Amino acid sequence: LIVLEKVNKWFGPLHVLQDVDLSVHRGEVVVVIGPSGSGKSTLCRAINRLEPINSGTITFDGRPLPAEGRALARLRSEVGMVFQSFNLFAHKTILQNVMLGPVKVRKENSAAVRDRALALLERVGIASQAEKYPAQLSGGQQQRVAIARALAMQPKALLFDEPTSALDPEMVGEVLEVMTSLAREGMTMVVVTHEMGFARHAANRVVFMADGQIVEEAEPAEFFAHPRSDRAKDFLSKIL
Ligand code: ATP
Ligand code: MG
Repeated sequence: LIVLEKVNKWFGPLHVLQDVDLSVHRGEVVVVIGPSGSGKSTLCRAINRLEPINSGTITFDGRPLPAEGRALARLRSEVGMVFQSFNLFAHKTILQNVMLGPVKVRKENSAAVRDRALALLERVGIASQAEKYPAQLSGGQQQRVAIARALAMQPKALLFDEPTSALDPEMVGEVLEVMTSLAREGMTMVVVTHEMGFARHAANRVVFMADGQIVEEAEPAEFFAHPRSDRAKDFLSKIL
């Protein structure tokens, strides 16, 4: 579904993605880990073209990423993104936040979208908060709204960039639970996270990045038991 070939990205003199090759198959859950500054966020952002690349190719669903216009808008609706900071609209209710994309961007019928949005809020466990505003919700609840909002666009894939890093520890579990159930239902996901429990239990594959390169990729059990590179061994010894 997502294929990166020889992708390179520079920020000025900084070579942040170096000949990155990565394929994510339909229904696959890929967890991306690695030290700070290794290029994980840039990789995610490149996939829905929040960040243009300097060379190489990225295709989504068989087509090269569009650079602009309606094709780009469609790509962004097909590849949802969930960030560390939830980025909800503060002056809109939870329900309005979830309905916004389908109604404004895709011009869908608002009654139909409303039903879908309520069902999604139910699914992430916050239907009772639909009429509240983001500030009235906990961080964990807000992040679940952000996931419902991404799902409202009926995406073909979801990208998560450290979705639980800004949360108080007691709220991490509820967000990971929603993500785990999405993974089980076959959603294609690329997840940057430091939650190794999630990587072990929900990922099909772990990708380890360092210095802009994919140093190692393996099934989670294999990766955690037998990391091959010194960089990965060193990284794991620090976080586990
Ligand atoms: P972290 O774990 O801290 O989130 P990361 O692996 O997500 O790190 P990136 O955010 O992808 O790393 O950044 C990779 C490198 O590119 C870093 O050295 C960062 O400082 C640099 N960088 C990221 N965004 C920009 C930008 N917009 N302009 C200049 N440099 C940037
Ligand atoms: Mg990052």
